[in-house]
This record gives sequence, structure tokens and C-alpha cells, in this order.
Amino acid sequence: MNSCKPYQRRWTLLAALAALALVCGCQNRLISKNQEIQLGQDAGDDFESKYGRDRDPNRNALVKSIGANIERAVEPPDYPYDFRIVASNQPNAAAFPGGRIYIFRGMLNKLGGNRDKIAWILGHEAAHVARQHAVRRIERQLGYEAIIALIFRKKSAARIAGTVGSLMLLDYGRDNEFEADRMGMLYTHNAGYDATAVVAVLKLFQKIQGGEPNDFEIMFATHPGNDDRINHAKGYIEKMGWSGAYYTP
Ligand SMILES: [Zn+2]
Repeated sequence: MNSCKPYQRRWTLLAALAALALVCGCQNRLISKNQEIQLGQDAGDDFESKYGRDRDPNRNALVKSIGANIERAVEPPDYPYDFRIVASNQPNAAAFPGGRIYIFRGMLNKLGGNRDKIAWILGHEAAHVARQHAVRRIERQLGYEAIIALIFRKKSAARIAGTVGSLMLLDYGRDNEFEADRMGMLYTHNAGYDATAVVAVLKLFQKIQGGEPNDFEIMFATHPGNDDRINHAKGYIEKMGWSGAYYTP
């Protein structure tokens, strides 16, 4: 009977997952760390082929040097971070599982090459990786079959890599975004930059969203709202006892 097949299939999948959980000792995780890194690289390559990569040497030197400082500040330092520029004029940024991080040329232009502001953007994205927001979302949203395709590197893995790419441009939900904002500030501060730049960046997003409604994919455009994020960021700055060029409590 055809109607039995989905159940048989599901049990086969569950058995495979149970076996994998035993093999990799990752009771809480469906995707191992190595798979996570591989997945992020595959999806990143697919993402690059769609948007193109900016190879301008000065821009890349700037992003690489700030990225290297952020990487040293990331806790825990578990992933091979790789900071790249997307050849798109959208003001956006994205983090892929395992450490591949993209800032869009449009974002760099909006930030006017300001190191403190770029550091916070890279820090925010690095936090999504370090706190495993990116890989958890894939586990939640792509489902077991997709994960198994990735694990066994089936043909559908390429299609899934494309899906992951578009997922990475969405927000992660309120709690994860607030956490990435805070961790991004901490990394920025510990990397030697002025973490109060967060206030200026979030105000810039507010302005962009007000003035250019077509830029629908602006980083964190959806939720939480920018007012909430600015208040949350100021609260964290006050709690940490910081002051800087962009905000003094
Ligand atoms: Zn985010």
C-alpha cells in the first residue's frame, strides 16, 4: 500500500538519525561540527555564485583586518572564521554555519569605511555562528530529510545549500538577534574598537528603512524593531560601564 510508505520512510530516517547520534555522540545536535563547517562552506559558495564576490583589494584588506581582530575576541573560538564581501549594493550582512561571514558592499558604503561600525556588524554576525544560531535554524527549518541529504552528501545537497543561502538573509528571531547584538558589542569592545558604534549603526538602519522601502533585505529589518534594539544596546553599554564616541550614558 502506498499509504504505508511515508511511515516506513520516516522510521528509516529516524533509525538513521538515532544511529548517527550514537556515532557522533551529539545527542543534542543533528549536525556535527565538521558537517556544520562543510555545510556553511557549500552554502556560502552557492550564495557567492548568486550575488558575486567583491574583490576590491582595499575593501578586502579592511574587512580581513577587522575580521581577524574580531575572530580573536570571539568566545568560544571554535570555528574557522572567514570574512568576505558580497558584490551587491544592498546594505546587508549574513553569517553561515561554521564561520563563513559576508558583509555586502552596500553595507560597507553605508558605513563609510568606519572601523568601529564595521567591527560591530562583523561581531554581530560572528555571534550568530559562535552561538550556533545559524546551524540550529537549519536543523529546525530544513527537517531531517534535508539534514540526512547533507550528511550523506546526496545530490539534493546542492539544492539545500541554495535554500540555506536564502535562509541566512532572514532574521533569527528576537532573542537570537538581541543576543547577537550583545555578543557583537562584547567582541567589538574586546577587539579594541568602540562598541558604542552599535547605536550609530542601528540609527542608520532606522533611517535607511524609513527612506528606502525597496531595500527590503536590510540586515535585521524585521524584528525586533530598531527602537527596541537601540534601547537594548544602550542598556548593555550602561551595564558594562562603557562610554564612547557614539554614545555616553
Ligand atoms: Zn542578526
